[in-house]
Amino acid sequence: MTVVNTLADVVVAVDLGGTAIKGSLVSETGETVATSTRSTPATDIIDTLMELIAELIAAATAHGRTVIAAAVVTPGMVDESSGVVVYASNLNWKNVPLLAELQSRLSIPVTVGHDVRAAGLAESRLGAAQDVDDFTLIPIGTGMAAAIVSASGAVRGALGAAGEIGHIPIVQGGELCTCGQRGCLEVYVSGAGVARRYAARAGGNLSSREIVARLGSDADADSVWDEAARALAQGLATVTLLLDPAVIVLGGGFSQAGAALLHPVTRYLDELLVWRDAPDVVLSRLGGDAGRVGAALLAFACVDRLEVADTWVLDAERVPL
Ligand SMILES: [Zn+2]
Repeated sequence: MTVVNTLADVVVAVDLGGTAIKGSLVSETGETVATSTRSTPATDIIDTLMELIAELIAAATAHGRTVIAAAVVTPGMVDESSGVVVYASNLNWKNVPLLAELQSRLSIPVTVGHDVRAAGLAESRLGAAQDVDDFTLIPIGTGMAAAIVSASGAVRGALGAAGEIGHIPIVQGGELCTCGQRGCLEVYVSGAGVARRYAARAGGNLSSREIVARLGSDADADSVWDEAARALAQGLATVTLLLDPAVIVLGGGFSQAGAALLHPVTRYLDELLVWRDAPDVVLSRLGGDAGRVGAALLAFACVDRLEVADTWVLDAERVPL
């Protein structure tokens, strides 16, 4: 754990993922006061989560800070009003009353959110979609999902499952997805998908980052990447025609490819959209930190202090992908 000084109240912000639980103390000036990370265990996830939160609260107390609220964001289908995680495949959770569990064990206000929608909140308050009423954030990592903001409101869906863009089937009878469907978008456009498709063509065990590094000198890398860019453009065309966003923000580790991703995707998107202009397609400014920053904003919001974020200035170098 690293600790620095601050002058203000703090919240506990936790991004609970399938591989890691990333927690931090965030001050009302947006400063990250302390961080702590645990590997996500196969079982007893809530016990490990509580250990991490207790560690952060103790760190705050040791430095004379007051923890005023906490927020935990998770993947999957999340009912934010009840705080129940309806389904999260990578946590192996079904109908877990996460908010009730946290409330029974913590004596501070606490809230539960969806990781990608929280990231969308962070991008809208502090990142690449500030002052944009209609935008879609698409973090692409091992898989992909979307946070949809329409008329300044987050679109959640009837089951809390809106934004599962990665599982939109785009190739009829296509390759099998981990979700059980065939031809899903994330089979072709994700870190795992690109790595698997390259290995099937050329062998080896390269990561998507290594494949990007070979562009221009490896025909198999060029081919797999081009197919990914075309598939992503097709997904963005669907998003554009359905939601008419002003901006589409690409985030997650996959977007670290930068121009190597943005240039072909915007070119293919322009080709697909014959009768209307494409929205702006930009890279996330908060990167892999967006979910955790979003959790901090949710924690301040749950004690009616969201306005604190109006003064936050996040340095891109402090929030790497
Ligand atoms: Zn799928």
